[in-house]
Amino acid sequence: MYVEKMRKEKNMSRILIIEDEEAIADLEKDYLELNDFEVEIENSGDTGLATALSEEFDLIILDLMLPGIDGFEICKRIREEKDVPILMVSAKKDDIDKIRGLGLGADDYLTKPFSPSELVARVKAHMARYARLVGTHTKENDMVEIRGIRIDKTARRVFIDGAEKTFTTKEFDLLTFLAENPNHVFTKEELFREIWDMDSIGDIATVTVHIKKIREKIETDTSKPQYIETIWGVGYRFKL
Ligand code: CA
Repeated sequence: MYVEKMRKEKNMSRILIIEDEEAIADLEKDYLELNDFEVEIENSGDTGLATALSEEFDLIILDLMLPGIDGFEICKRIREEKDVPILMVSAKKDDIDKIRGLGLGADDYLTKPFSPSELVARVKAHMARYARLVGTHTKENDMVEIRGIRIDKTARRVFIDGAEKTFTTKEFDLLTFLAENPNHVFTKEELFREIWDMDSIGDIATVTVHIKKIREKIETDTSKPQYIETIWGVGYRFKL
């Protein structure tokens, strides 16, 4: 499916690389061009932001540490105006966690050093998904995306920062329900009724157990959940 889609997109997709290390930018450009993408490079934050806002791109690869305006600010500013996929790259894992925590709206993250083939694979995955979302209205409701989490409801697959994680049926249903109703606090009773049918054997403790298992898969640090918050004495809320 993706392959067919990509073939249709061939020679049409434009990518902007905002990266101050010219050798890295050139390497990324070479590999992307080999894969039939059209690539522009900007080597500073200021020119990168200006180009990102004034021209149309299908995806933006954004380095975090840049002279001038940094990647955090650029991501925020682009997101205020455009929903183009943003792939953020950083040399520090800590920064990636920070970006996720801030919820700036980046679609994916890569820690340097990464292999050019990994970059190309990520770019292609985003292109295919974006083309699908934009191209076909009937498919729009099939995906739930909040920050680094992408839930493909049709295929019942979950991706955390681009990496697929395996969920049981109930874990998937519970995560999807919460993610589709962000900022809404649900009691354990409500969640149990919603996800488990009336005849299920179990009780609300089942909800707690499932939330724990989901967190182990989606959270970087389960003691400081970035996605599913515990509202003490009430229940759970998916943070937007
Ligand atoms: Ca840099």
